Amino acid sequence: MEKEDIKELKARTRKVVALLKRHYPDSKCSLNFKTAHQLLVATILSAQCTDERVNIVTRDLFKKYRNIKAFADADISMLEDDIRSTGFYKNKAKAIIKASKIIAAEFGGKIPQTLDRIVKLPGVGRKTGSVVLGTAFGKAEGIAVDTHVSRISQRLGLTPEKDPVKIEIDLMEIIPKKDWIIYSHLLIDHGRAVCKARKPGCSGCFLAKLCPSFDSF
Ligand code: SF4
Repeated sequence: MEKEDIKELKARTRKVVALLKRHYPDSKCSLNFKTAHQLLVATILSAQCTDERVNIVTRDLFKKYRNIKAFADADISMLEDDIRSTGFYKNKAKAIIKASKIIAAEFGGKIPQTLDRIVKLPGVGRKTGSVVLGTAFGKAEGIAVDTHVSRISQRLGLTPEKDPVKIEIDLMEIIPKKDWIIYSHLLIDHGRAVCKARKPGCSGCFLAKLCPSFDSF
């Protein structure tokens, strides 16, 4: 594929997103939650852990800690034990308790609804903030860039960057804002089903004609 200008890149990206939507019509966040705070907790737990494992852990966790106050008042050693299997449990427990205390004390028990404010909570970076704002509130303030989104956006030639923040800036430039939330979910689905980290299934990939990395593995 020859080097394309921004107009061509945007047009190709639109086709990519349209095809992804067609193939994954039910694409959505795979973490289980009932409230925005539960999604925040689940997203903190999902760092370096599969959504499947997080869902197993939160099934009991959300029964034991029923609201923000319960997490804010949690005994740290007990919470560490409760979330141990998600990995990095010490940092995660500390972040969940601290963030819950701040939400209860400074935000009247409501999750802040702007990226600037939500990323000030402990354990919440741009990715976690974008997931919570997008999925719980339908607010597109950024694009959540995880390992699938990074890898496939690079393979598709939508960004040459490796740093998630720089990848996000590139993507925000070429993807219409209305698709910022769904884009991450679509790429996660495609990464799990076809464009896997080690063995991408290029031969059966519906994006093959639009992908500069087709069959280059
Ligand atoms: S053609 Fe290959 S590299 Fe490109 S998106 Fe499909 S599976 Fe991934």
